[in-house]
Amino acid sequence: MNTVNGKSVQQGVAIARIKVYKRAGEVVSRVKINDTAKETVRLLKALDETKNQLQELYESALKSAGEDAAAIFEVHQMMLEDEDFLESIKNIIENESVNAEYAVAVTGDNFSKMFASMDDEYMRARSADIKDISLRILKVLSGQKDTDMTGLSDKVILLADDLSPSETVQMDKSKIGAFVTVHGSVTSHTAILARTMNIPALVNAGIDNIDELDGKEAIVDGSLGILIVEPSDEIRLDYEKKLVELENQKKLLASLKGKPTVTKDGRKINLYANVGSIGDIAFAQSSDAEGIGLFRSEFIYLGKDDYPTEEEQFQIYKQALQLMGKKKVVIRTCDIGADKQIGYFNLDKEDNPALGFRAIRICLTRQDFFKTQLRALFRASVYGNLAIMYPMIVSMDEIIKIKEIVSQVKSELDELGVPYSKTLEQGIMIETPAAALISDELAKEVDFFSVGTNDLTQYTLAMDRQNSKLDSLYDKRHPAILKLIKMAADNAHANGKWIGICGELGADLELTKTFIDMGIDELSVSPGMILKLREKIINL
Ligand code: PEP
Ligand code: MG
Repeated sequence: MNTVNGKSVQQGVAIARIKVYKRAGEVVSRVKINDTAKETVRLLKALDETKNQLQELYESALKSAGEDAAAIFEVHQMMLEDEDFLESIKNIIENESVNAEYAVAVTGDNFSKMFASMDDEYMRARSADIKDISLRILKVLSGQKDTDMTGLSDKVILLADDLSPSETVQMDKSKIGAFVTVHGSVTSHTAILARTMNIPALVNAGIDNIDELDGKEAIVDGSLGILIVEPSDEIRLDYEKKLVELENQKKLLASLKGKPTVTKDGRKINLYANVGSIGDIAFAQSSDAEGIGLFRSEFIYLGKDDYPTEEEQFQIYKQALQLMGKKKVVIRTCDIGADKQIGYFNLDKEDNPALGFRAIRICLTRQDFFKTQLRALFRASVYGNLAIMYPMIVSMDEIIKIKEIVSQVKSELDELGVPYSKTLEQGIMIETPAAALISDELAKEVDFFSVGTNDLTQYTLAMDRQNSKLDSLYDKRHPAILKLIKMAADNAHANGKWIGICGELGADLELTKTFIDMGIDELSVSPGMILKLREKIINL
C-alpha cells in the first residue's frame, strides 16, 4: 500500500483501477537500428503522410474559417520541407543508427529550443509550431493515438501528468470515477470540470512515475486529498463503508429537492448551476438547480477540431433551453484564450496569455465568428428563457461595440423574418477589477452582472490562477475581492439590476452569509454544491 498526497479539487470517494492517460507521441524510446536506409524510407513515408494531413487541415480550415486561419497549416507544411530540419533527422538516424521516432523527437526538441531563444518575437513563436509538427510526425510514425477511453467496462481513476481543458472535455465522463493529476492548480478549468461532474479529484499529486501505477487498484479520497494505491483489505473495507455514508448524506440532502431557496427572513436567492455542456445539464437537473447561471459555451468549441457551425450551436442552445423549460439559462459567449487554447483558432503564442488576446477581445476582433454565435443564440432564444452574458469586460467601449454587433445580428434576422426573443436579458461578467470599479457606469447599460471570482481573484491579487506554487498565497477571501463584489452589487442595485456570482467563490459556504448580506441575488455553482448551499441558505 502506498499513499500519495495531492491537493483536493473535489470531495468524495472513488474506489477503482488506475488508468494512466498518455498523449500520443509523449513517450519516445531510443531503439538501435541496423538498416538505417530502410529507417530513412520509413521516415520519408511518414513525412509524406504528415504533409497530406496538413493539406487536408488547410483545406478544411480554409472553408470553415478563411485564409488567415488556414495559413498556419501552410506554414507547417513549409516547415516540414525545411532542409535543415530534415537533414538533422536523417543525420541522427544515420550517425547514431537509431529509430526515426527518436531522431524526430531530438530534432524537434533542438529546433524548438533554438527558436525559443531567438530575439525576434515572430521567430520565438515558431517554437510551438516546431513542437506541433514533431508531434504530428511522431503520431504518424508510431501509429499511436491518445489513450483510448472507449471500451472500458468499469469506471477508472484517471491519472495524468496534466490535462488540458480540451482533453478533459473530449473524454467519456461515464468512464471516469476520479481525476488525479501530477500538475495543475485548484482553480484550473480541469478542476472546475471535475466539480461540475461532482467526482473526486486531486491535482498536484506527488508521483514521480505515473506509468508504474497503471492498472493498479486504488482509492481517491477527495476530502483528505490522498490517493491510496493498492489499499489493504482493512482500508478498502473502511472506504466501502464511507461510500455508503456518503450515499446516505446525499439522500438526506435530496430531501431538500423541490424546496424553495429562501432565508429565514424571507429572502429568495436564485440558486443556479454552472455547466459546460448539454450533458452537464443532467447533473444540474438532478441537483435541482433553479436555472443555469453560467453555460461556458467555449467548451462546445473545445470539444471540436474545427469551428462549430451556426446550426450546430443553435441545436445545442435550443436543447439546453428546452431541457430547462421556463428556468433561466445564462449562456456566456465564447471565452477562449488563456488556459483554454484551441488549435484551430490559431492564436499566437503569448508571454502572458491570461492578460492577452482572450474572450471578448477575440470576439470583437474576429467579428464573423462572434456573429455566428450570436445568431445561433438569438435564434434559439424563442425556445426558453435565455440570457446572454459577455466575459472579460474592462470598458464601456466594449459594451458599445457589443451592442453595435448585436443590433446588426438582429437586423439580419429581422430581414430574414427569423423570430427571436425581444426581451432576452444581456449581462456582463464582473471578473476584472476594472469592470468592478466602473460598475456604476456599466450597470446603466446592461441587464445584469455576474461576478467571475476566479478571474477577479487572479487579476486583483496579481496571481496566476494556473500556478499551483501560489496556491498557499492565493487568498480567495481577500478583503479586496469582497470589496469589489460589494461595490458591483451596490451599483447593480442602485440601477435596478440584479447581480449573481458564478465563480467558484459562490460555493464557499463560509461566505454565503456575507454574500447574502451584500444583497447578491443569485449564486451559480457546480451542480454538486446546489443542495449543500440550499441547506445553508434556508438556515440563515
Ligand atoms: C470566473 O472567472 O470566475 C468564471 C466564472 O469564468 P471562468 O472560470 O470560466 O474563467
Ligand atoms: Mg473567467
